[in-house]
Amino acid sequence: MEFQTIVERLRAGQDPKFPANANSLEYAATLSSQDPLKHLKEEFILPTKGSLRKKGLSGTAAPANASHTSSSNGTSSSLSHGDDDDEKSSIYFVGNSLGAQPKAVRRYLDAQLETWASIGVGGHFTTWENSPLVAWQDMSADCARKSVDLVGAASADEIVMMNTITANLHLMMASFYKPTEKRHKIILEWKPFPSDFYAIESQIQWHGLDPAKSMVQIQPDGSNNDDESFLISTETILAAIDEHADETALLLLPGVQYYSGQLFDMARITKYAQEKGIPYVGWDLAHAAGNVELRLHDWNVDFAVWCTYKYINAGPGSIAGAFVHERHGTVERDPDAIHGFRHRHRLAGWYGEDKSVRFDMANRFQPTPGAGGFQVSNPSAVDLASLSAALSVFEKTRMRELRSKSLALTAYAQHLLDDIGSATPTPPFRIITPRDPAQRGCQLSVLLRPGLLEQVGEALQEGGVVCDQRKPDVIRVAPVPLYCDFVDVYNFMSILGRAIATTS
Ligand SMILES: *Cc1c(COP(=O)(O)O)cnc(C)c1O
Repeated sequence: MEFQTIVERLRAGQDPKFPANANSLEYAATLSSQDPLKHLKEEFILPTKGSLRKKGLSGTAAPANASHTSSSNGTSSSLSHGDDDDEKSSIYFVGNSLGAQPKAVRRYLDAQLETWASIGVGGHFTTWENSPLVAWQDMSADCARKSVDLVGAASADEIVMMNTITANLHLMMASFYKPTEKRHKIILEWKPFPSDFYAIESQIQWHGLDPAKSMVQIQPDGSNNDDESFLISTETILAAIDEHADETALLLLPGVQYYSGQLFDMARITKYAQEKGIPYVGWDLAHAAGNVELRLHDWNVDFAVWCTYKYINAGPGSIAGAFVHERHGTVERDPDAIHGFRHRHRLAGWYGEDKSVRFDMANRFQPTPGAGGFQVSNPSAVDLASLSAALSVFEKTRMRELRSKSLALTAYAQHLLDDIGSATPTPPFRIITPRDPAQRGCQLSVLLRPGLLEQVGEALQEGGVVCDQRKPDVIRVAPVPLYCDFVDVYNFMSILGRAIATTS
């Protein structure tokens, strides 16, 4: 089996050895047919070329079984408003920004609405028969349980679903950034996502400190020479740790960098920083959760945060996640501690209280042991229903399987990009994501030659491609293994190749 061999080679760090006919629809279709996860695409509603042009509601979601290979099965003419092309699925390569809609979401939301309408406040404590949902009170914990494999927690107790990623970053820093006169720095990277930058900067100011003195931004390796590199090697990160360890209170990096798509060696960096005496290491997993394999517990990560609308597909602005290592979540009886319990300090709210006392209204904060004790508010059941539906798709597989497919898909995308790149005398673009599959997730960031972006963007849109453009010249191509396949990659590259050939 070709698919399996490619995965095994990539897993072993070898060249996948695509054959001479790799740049053909036949070859892409062969790989797709051998893909053990190909059925998962059926779990999603992808926009169609026609639906992408809609300007208002029409009472239907995009046709669920639209296909990009055959335009119509002859019986679905009632769906057709224009030409058959409109019914074809788009090539949805933007799951790094907003994941596609799982079909389960509608069913879970319907269940939620029916529960609320039928029994009102009773939904907090009642788990219905034949409902995909548990009682509202238990939904956050249920979603945590479904997320254990995604982030590599020891158990659901290390995970809490709450708020949004930026709010969680603030809450985690409130507990884990404890600057002193000598130890006040936060080490971060040169180009953090703006929200992370603002959160870090404002936390430092909140403590009355000066960001210019307390923020350490690790620069990419290439910044010292003419090579305009966006990558930061592990060695560079370890050197920054060496330089600042004694004054550093927190190391906070992204698992996968959103712009370059670089995947950092979280295990090694975490261990090194802790050995050098940096008290806490946190990770922003916005682009890593649901994308790459994570082992947060085994890596001894102190805390992590992630959002669920990118690779986890829970919908725009959906409820986010946080990981707190079990050693920080202990709650012990101690008569000398306030309210009789000793636990890590945090900014608290009533939903962090142990369920056994939450409704006593006694104002004696006794947190739930584990990450759940960091929850502050009653979470939105609508949000959790949507997340629960999205996670039900992940429950049909394992992150290891998804990652295997992802390694092959992205390696195939890179192979075809190399073909396009070598077809013209001057290279039309440069891939700024690491070429080593172990140092990236599914995303490839393609830096176009200046001036190409607009025409390439138009051609992609015309071809029914949804992908992300970052000014000035980067397109981010994310073939997500849950709902993209090798034929999508092939079709995408054909469109891109033609666009570049006509503009060069
Ligand atoms: C997407 C993303 C965010 C978004 O923050 P919200 O609080 O969900 O709006 C933050 N940080 C990173 C690194 C991201 O990729």
